[in-house]
Amino acid sequence: MQILSIPKYYDFWWDTAAPAERNDIVLKEQAVPTALFAKEKVPFYREHYKKFSSTDIQRISSFEEFVHIIPYITKEHLATNHPLAFLPEIPNFEIDPNRGRYWMFGTGGTTGKPVLVFHSMEDWRGMSITANRHIEFDFYHDEAIAGHFSFERGTAFFEGLESRRTPLVNARIVGAYNGDHITNNIYANMLHRLGSEFYWRPSAAPTVEDIYDSTQCFRANGLLAPPEGGNDRKGAFLRAILEQDARQKDSFWDLSHRFNPDFRFIFWSSMPISEELLSYLRTDLRLPYIKGHFGSTEVCPTASTCSHRMRDFHLVFGHSLVLLKSLEGKESVNPDELGYMLVSKIGATNSRGQNILPTGMIFLNYMTGDAARLTRATRCQCGRNTPVLYDIQRIEFSSGKSRHGCQVA
Ligand SMILES: [Zn+2]
Repeated sequence: MQILSIPKYYDFWWDTAAPAERNDIVLKEQAVPTALFAKEKVPFYREHYKKFSSTDIQRISSFEEFVHIIPYITKEHLATNHPLAFLPEIPNFEIDPNRGRYWMFGTGGTTGKPVLVFHSMEDWRGMSITANRHIEFDFYHDEAIAGHFSFERGTAFFEGLESRRTPLVNARIVGAYNGDHITNNIYANMLHRLGSEFYWRPSAAPTVEDIYDSTQCFRANGLLAPPEGGNDRKGAFLRAILEQDARQKDSFWDLSHRFNPDFRFIFWSSMPISEELLSYLRTDLRLPYIKGHFGSTEVCPTASTCSHRMRDFHLVFGHSLVLLKSLEGKESVNPDELGYMLVSKIGATNSRGQNILPTGMIFLNYMTGDAARLTRATRCQCGRNTPVLYDIQRIEFSSGKSRHGCQVA
């Protein structure tokens, strides 16, 4: 397996590099090689990319061209092809011994047909290192957050690979997402890497009462929960858990930093949070660390919250790339213009800590069904120098599909 000549995913370079330099490396060392690899080694793409040559891919010199030349794929492509068609044909000896242990997730609903997504150990490792870096960055570089915590800085190791010590060492986090929801799985890896305990119930759909009891029982000082919403397919909602807590103020463990200084961490993922709930967490409960990740089952975290624009997300880069295409055609959009999100999985990490191409299912210019806007990359108050994803809108796949059809190369 080809070793990519790029910085390690835990390197803050990904957040602070000059945008032109970063774009160049992401395009030439990750996105283009993944597309070439897909055309050569992945059955679905071998067929799907028939209309253009490897040389056409090699000539791609900008993200705009990447959006234009590499056809986007949709959930419909996943639903109508066997999941194995998206896995690279590579010999077992090329990858680490955990190969074979795919993490498999069902996604479904929007097209009516559930689809399976497979991530490999290498993919998983790359994703969790990238996502952790965004948490580490907050404690190491963002004064608005770091000022609330004192902790011993330094390096820790998880499964032989480096990560940084943060206030999450020895934290006790309860996961309120449903057991089979990918958020619990990826967070289990992320939080363990950061030295935290993580309690969750595999293969169960926890109720609000379950979570509340677990929080008390483990004297948790953090929660990972979907913020709020109408259906319970994701798990027990944070808003409902906090309502339960507010009704039981005489309990011995309070989910408010104001009354229980040990309770400090709220994590959430996969959906935007409302201004109202965010304000309650910050002003009423005075929680010093609230962190959201944005992503998809297919590519996992692609962006995470900024402490200064807490409902918006900085792109994480590393294992993933997010580009936007216009709502009508296949051109990329200008900064701040609304477009469909195209996500790509363009990296993984082997057991020696080297960055490689993904070894699980490959997703390139995958249209998630979300629309959003992306700023130009400029230096943010949080210290990052990456584009910010904002105004995220869930657009039903069916309506998107009816507007511009299903592209077949
Ligand atoms: Zn920021």
